[in-house]
Amino acid sequence: MAFSPATNLGPATGLSCRECGHVRELGPFYACEECFGPLEISYDFGTVTRADIEAGPRNIWRYRGLLPVPENVAETPNTEPGLTRLVRADQLAEELGLQRLWVKDDSGNPTHSFKDRVVAVALAAARELGFKVLACPSTGNLANAVAAAAARAGIRSAVFVPSNLESQKIITTAVYGGTFVTVDGNYDDVNRLASEIAGEQEDWAFVNVNVRPYYAEGSKTLGYEIAEQLGWRLPDQIVVPVASGSQLTKIDKAFQELIKLGLVEDRPYRVFGAQAAGCDPVATAFKNGWDVFKPVKPDTIAKSLAIGNPADGTYVLDVVRRTGGAVEDVTDEQVVEGIRLLARTEGIFGETAGGVTVGVLRKLVENGRLDPAAETVIINSGDGLKTLDAVAPVVAPTANIAPSLEAFRAAGIA
Ligand SMILES: *Cc1c(COP(=O)(O)O)cnc(C)c1O
Ligand SMILES: [Zn+2]
Repeated sequence: MAFSPATNLGPATGLSCRECGHVRELGPFYACEECFGPLEISYDFGTVTRADIEAGPRNIWRYRGLLPVPENVAETPNTEPGLTRLVRADQLAEELGLQRLWVKDDSGNPTHSFKDRVVAVALAAARELGFKVLACPSTGNLANAVAAAAARAGIRSAVFVPSNLESQKIITTAVYGGTFVTVDGNYDDVNRLASEIAGEQEDWAFVNVNVRPYYAEGSKTLGYEIAEQLGWRLPDQIVVPVASGSQLTKIDKAFQELIKLGLVEDRPYRVFGAQAAGCDPVATAFKNGWDVFKPVKPDTIAKSLAIGNPADGTYVLDVVRRTGGAVEDVTDEQVVEGIRLLARTEGIFGETAGGVTVGVLRKLVENGRLDPAAETVIINSGDGLKTLDAVAPVVAPTANIAPSLEAFRAAGIA
């Protein structure tokens, strides 16, 4: 691939290894030359003010000064995700015995999950780096986001998913018309295949593989938004769903950056991770006091979180232990209960990942790990319309009646 060293990636200055700290120039790199550790973007932010951010677009590009994207990023077609609502959840709080609870409802993004954030940043960086195709292995939501963003940008997409995915997520990817391949294997098989393809197809940007350092930074915008929407302060506690673990670690990174930049007060906060019991390598490691997790074979209805060998699992353990949080898991039954509880109390229909997070919130209150008096934020990372199968067997209309007043009265529902 003809690659010229990128100079127009905003405040990004280089790529540093998360394991050994070795630094190299910006480019289409994701593994350390010295130790094969994962690379992460380093920055020189200069001065960033609340006023600068508040004057920006009403999407993630208001934080472009904190992301590895060109200054004029808002001018090129992208899906413009972000600035989703932060909902005060008093009824859910009361049900669970909490005093102050908020739901960051990221189902409000263009393709109805938080993945639009990471893909928007990956697309912007991939263009600068000279890639021609936007690609990914996906558990579903990423497939939607990549296919849509590529369509909007007028470039080719190439998306790979496990063939047993929810039909809703198959349809909502296929509709965008890119190259779309279902693979007979689980996500970890698809991910390995994608790495092999990335080695051959040099101008394909696999957003979560070979441009992963850029992609991952997109999750920081969740942290920035929560702080800004709370009136420029951090919550005491936050509960985040964990698949690869990137979202959780980058929300923490965002909070740390805001503190260093003086945009929020420096005070302690605790980060909690949420997994499904059918795919809980990080929760298991946390509970057993292990420094490294053991990969598992996923078996859960929470398919968007079904990554058995999570790339950032170890870093999740670091963040959670450093901040005094925990990683907890819930059964599929509790996932369904969590979806219904959020819907019934707050009118928010989350996907299975949202059910995992609400279920884990409940469990953390019950086992005393979470302080019910402290202000808490939970993430609803995707829309329930994408995982209808999870609740279809357990919800139904109250009654079916003839179109007459007698029939209404006879049904006894008044
Ligand atoms: C991908 C995904 C997550 C978690 O993402 P990671 O950054 O890989 O941990 C959470 N919720 C939903 C709905 C997702 O699609
Ligand atoms: Zn290294």
